[in-house]
Amino acid sequence: MTDATWSTKFFPYFRIRKPVPLSTWADAHRVIGDGAGPEPGRWRTERTPYMRAIMDAVTDPAVREVVMCTGVQLGKTELLLNTICYYTLHEPSPILLVEPSEELARDIGSDRIDTMIKASPELRPLFGFTEDLKIKSGQLNLAMKRFPGGYIKLASAASPTDLKSRPIRVILCDEVDTFPARSDGNAVDMAIARASNFCDRKVLLTSTPGTLANSEIWRRYGHCAQYEYHIPCPHCGAPSAWSWGMVKWDAGADGAGEPQTARMECPACGGVIRDGGPAPYPLLMSGRWELLQGDPSCGRLGFHLPGLYSPWMTLSGMVTEWLSANRARDIDRLRTFIQDRLAEPWDERPPSWRERESERTADRFEAEPDHTALRFLTAGVDVQRDRVEISVWGFGANMESWAVSHTVFVGDPLSAELWLKVREFLLAPVKTRDGREGVIYAACIDSGDGYSTQTVYRFCAPLEKRRIVAVKGVGGDRVPLVSPPTRTAFHSPLYRLGVDRLKQVIYDRLNIGVIGPGYIHIPRELSDEFWAQLTAESPETVVEHGKQITRWKQHRPRNEALDCAVYALAAYELFCYPVSRLQKKSGRRG
Ligand SMILES: [Zn+2]
Repeated sequence: MTDATWSTKFFPYFRIRKPVPLSTWADAHRVIGDGAGPEPGRWRTERTPYMRAIMDAVTDPAVREVVMCTGVQLGKTELLLNTICYYTLHEPSPILLVEPSEELARDIGSDRIDTMIKASPELRPLFGFTEDLKIKSGQLNLAMKRFPGGYIKLASAASPTDLKSRPIRVILCDEVDTFPARSDGNAVDMAIARASNFCDRKVLLTSTPGTLANSEIWRRYGHCAQYEYHIPCPHCGAPSAWSWGMVKWDAGADGAGEPQTARMECPACGGVIRDGGPAPYPLLMSGRWELLQGDPSCGRLGFHLPGLYSPWMTLSGMVTEWLSANRARDIDRLRTFIQDRLAEPWDERPPSWRERESERTADRFEAEPDHTALRFLTAGVDVQRDRVEISVWGFGANMESWAVSHTVFVGDPLSAELWLKVREFLLAPVKTRDGREGVIYAACIDSGDGYSTQTVYRFCAPLEKRRIVAVKGVGGDRVPLVSPPTRTAFHSPLYRLGVDRLKQVIYDRLNIGVIGPGYIHIPRELSDEFWAQLTAESPETVVEHGKQITRWKQHRPRNEALDCAVYALAAYELFCYPVSRLQKKSGRRG
């Protein structure tokens, strides 16, 4: 009697079986349906050799949790399906598959799981299919598929009830980094809690990573024994985990990158490891997972797998994506590339955080910034208890901007003496580096501290015609960058600013690495302190009253340069931007 006959006819009566490695089991039993993947027919683990250890970790009795942080097109969905197939046929158990939304749960249920069941002669009879693929009874329900010895429950991470059902042994969570925030707890924790009664529980979490501050898969990967896939160099034999830094390409005569020259070079000997095509099977076969850190005896194994290992994706295609996202300075496409291709979380913080340790930060500063394209000068004024700080910024066409100067006036902000100095400074001419003499066209002064608010209102009242105005920062994602003014007791205008969004605009622009539209120029003469203050905060997503909101977190005590930059940008948005649009329309040059 073959093993297959055993499974279909008798296993409901012999539920306790010895676990076998999932890769061996899937090679013998798993069938991929037509149209359900790039390679229909019998499952062959050797087609994705890196999958073998991950699959075997799933059925290893010593392992409780498997975390797979992965790029797209690496076979992640097949891992989930193989696991479902195994715990349906070999060790029948209740299985919970959690997807980010009800729609995705429905799609994977009908597109992938039903297709897998129909394609497999062993699975078909368990779910009531006859030979001609007609369903006999109502067993193939969308959300709950019952079979002898267990069931497959498809759940949405957003559903208030799906995650609060009865005890379940096998918990599979797919794309956990797109799980919605819940007010009653973390969806992954809630799902895992369903298995707490099982000493032989299995948890499998997979996802492409989201943002660094909020990535669930990255956090959980950090708590695992972490593995990377190392492949020996065909020339010198030195093993390496493939990374984007190993990918090289040539530049053409016009300086633009040529994706057709894409290749991967060995960090040890410089030899070419692979060309621009998909990852070759012999190379993938020669690789092995190496423990990066952590102790595997903790029962949690984490696997990090970038798209460079995909046997279906070409290297030249990835270089094309990378070059075009960079050329277009498209932050969204760059973010998608980092997450989906490199399987790394997107770091929302400005470059100083990522590059503080490297020499690249030094290139960020310009010894002689070119001011010829500068059209408007504005000032941002931050008022503290013992001083006033003023940054002067320049703005050009296409949102290019220049930090021009940063000045501190020490004194009591209630004293007339201090404000005389501020007034003199704001009204004085400013020399640009290309020899022009300009005036500060507009300025925004912070009045939000409650201490000097009335003084600031009084100071601004006679200066309204010079576009020197009081502002008040309002936090929150949905507050507009700038709002129409209200009037203070001194009849001067008071503008409310969406400071969180203004900060995000500045940080997005700081992330632009090429001089041109949106680029922020920082002169070398502004000290390291200016840069540290400018990059002193980072956005973090938190859940409040069941809603996901962004909060800006300060990482160091001083951040005045960032506040000044926000006010200077607001001054540009309020007074210069409308003028520059008018000039454009009438064909005049600014
Ligand atoms: Zn080598």
